Amino acid sequence: STWDIAAFKADLPEIRQHDDEKYLAARSQDYFWYSPILNELLKDKRGDLVVVPQSVDEVIQIASQVARHRIPLTLRGGGTGNYGQCVPLEGGIIMDLTRLDKVIEITPGHVRVEAGARISRLDDAARATGQELLMYPSTRQMATIGGFLAGGSGGIGSLRHGMLRDPGNVTYVKVVTIEPEPKVIELHGDEIQKVQHAYGTNGIVVEMGVALTKATDWIHTAALFDGYDQALRFATQAQVDGLDCYLLTTVERRFAPYYKKLGDYFPADRDAVFAMVAPGDMARFTAEAEEMGGRVSFAMTKPDLSAAGLQPAYECGWNHTTLQALKVDPGWTYLQVAYPRPFDIDLVMRQMERYGDEMFWHHEMAREKGDVQIFALPLVRWRDRDAMYRLIAELEEKDGCTIFDPHVVTIEDGGMKTIDDTQIAFKKLADPYGLMNPGKTRGWTADMARDDTTFKQGQSA
Ligand code: FAD
Repeated sequence: STWDIAAFKADLPEIRQHDDEKYLAARSQDYFWYSPILNELLKDKRGDLVVVPQSVDEVIQIASQVARHRIPLTLRGGGTGNYGQCVPLEGGIIMDLTRLDKVIEITPGHVRVEAGARISRLDDAARATGQELLMYPSTRQMATIGGFLAGGSGGIGSLRHGMLRDPGNVTYVKVVTIEPEPKVIELHGDEIQKVQHAYGTNGIVVEMGVALTKATDWIHTAALFDGYDQALRFATQAQVDGLDCYLLTTVERRFAPYYKKLGDYFPADRDAVFAMVAPGDMARFTAEAEEMGGRVSFAMTKPDLSAAGLQPAYECGWNHTTLQALKVDPGWTYLQVAYPRPFDIDLVMRQMERYGDEMFWHHEMAREKGDVQIFALPLVRWRDRDAMYRLIAELEEKDGCTIFDPHVVTIEDGGMKTIDDTQIAFKKLADPYGLMNPGKTRGWTADMARDDTTFKQGQSA
């Protein structure tokens, strides 16, 4: 490396640090290996030092030294992102935020929390007050709330409450800037978009406010149908009828061998709808499934599920499907697809026919700014890069789908499609030297960096 890590360390004697090779390797990676393209690009990237701040004050000390020594900084929560969001592209310092995990205050409808808190712990704390989170990724167990804000989009609960970026879901964030004298900036309401899904490139989120709702003891369940079109029809009808579901996911029968633990609950000759249903609506859910030719194969509370050694329903949907499949067959990769509205079941059936064994399908029911939006995260048999981009073009041009490309490194090439000028403007304030994971955003160019020589002490480059 060209930077002086030893000097940086010497300036932070009190901060917990790790630099042995194994530790660095583990903290330099996330779930990018879902993509053979990203795997090739990212598997050998390494940070030079991991720091683990125990408080906001320590975050500020580190931010100051990062700026003084001009060393790249990569933030890390649970490290469960799929696109190498927390892989240090140019090495440098990795800041592990998982010790910044205080649940500060829970009030009716709201929680104030430090950004490194694991989502499972946060949701459990809310539950202890009779409330729950509006949504979480299927990585609830490992992911942090700050990582969800900076790298995620929505997930379990999104059918009921929309995507994370929808108004009101996050109420405020506190951001530490990367400067010799770091500032703490508070953003409210729409201003939160400045750091939302910015992959930790424009400031360190240390604290945030998240909306809560009254807790429900969701019933984890599966309804089985003879035909994927039947499963989709049921899932669509369930929303028309207003069944109260926190999760509604259709998974076609070819996934059954990847869900071995479920045994007869998901047999290979039936297509499944996995759901989390409000107890008061479970009877209606069962009756409607039966009316539409299906049957409910299990319905259990979460404690009963774990007693039976089964995974929760939310680990049968969203990106956990890909994980289950990859564990058995590493020849798969995947895509992220948003369907045009209104949703057309026949389009899905045509896609299944067109791609045969090259693609396996499951669909996620969600809501965006109040309207139902259906996503798919299909498995794609890995051939090569050209085949992947031919497929993406076909799904976009022929079918009118929108693809959020999970095989690229930058924010702009993936979900966001264009450079977000307000995020870049905020980066000029929060990361004026362009130190936060350089290479993650195409919106930042070297000439934008603040030009001051006063604080170049310690830099050996
Ligand atoms: P990390 O991976 O540690 O970080 C994500 C990004 O945020 C990085 O760019 C990092 O630098 C940045 N960051 C982390 N902390 C901060 C901070 N305090 N301030 C500023 N930037 C920060 N995502 C979904 O949205 N929905 C899903 O349903 C979903 N399902 C998944 C299933 C599987 C099996 C896997 C592997 C991934 C899934 N994901 C999903 C992606 C990911 O798990 C989530 O987005 C998760 O919320 C990321 O949290 P994390 O703490 O692991 O973040």
